This record gives sequence, C-alpha cells and structure tokens, in this order.
Amino acid sequence: MTVADRLARNRFETDEEEPHIQVNQEVARRTGAADILIAVCPARVYSKEPDGSIGVEYAACLECGTCLAVAPAGSLQWHYPRGGFGVQFREG
Ligand code: SF4
Repeated sequence: MTVADRLARNRFETDEEEPHIQVNQEVARRTGAADILIAVCPARVYSKEPDGSIGVEYAACLECGTCLAVAPAGSLQWHYPRGGFGVQFREG
C-alpha cells in the first residue's frame, strides 16, 4: 500500500465553528510565510490566493505540527482541533 493509499483512508471531522488554523495575513505577507507553509505542508492545506493572501483548507490537516514549527513569528495561530474533530488515522 502506498503512502497516498494510506492517507486516502483517513477520516476528517471538520469543526466548522472553530478552525484550528488561522493566518495573520498582514504578518504573513510581510514575512513571505506563504512560500514556507506551502513548501512544508504534506496535506497541501495552504495555497496562494489571487489577491496574495494565504488560503487555508484546515479540514485536510494531518495535525503534524510542521507548519507551526517553521512559520515566521506571528504569522500563524495553530492548536489541535477540539475533541471529536480533526483527523482520524486508519493506517497508523
Ligand atoms: S499541521 Fe501539518 S498537515 Fe496540518 S497544516 Fe500544518 S503542516 Fe499541514
């Protein structure tokens, strides 16, 4: 089974009321955070929007924490999803 096959078996419970990832667009723009976040995220959560802002598809987050470790200071707020929400790994 490939890594892609394993990832496809994950389930996600999306918290529509409280996103667990929020980007400070002003700080992100000033620090070039978009390129960093897009490069490190294995789930392709981040994207560059036409207006230059960072898009965040937080529902697909694997909760690995990599973006939090490398994001320029003040550009990202990240916490684990509330209980019952987030990713459920089916293959380890
Ligand atoms: S925690 Fe991992 S999967 Fe989630 S957005 Fe950050 S880098 Fe992507």
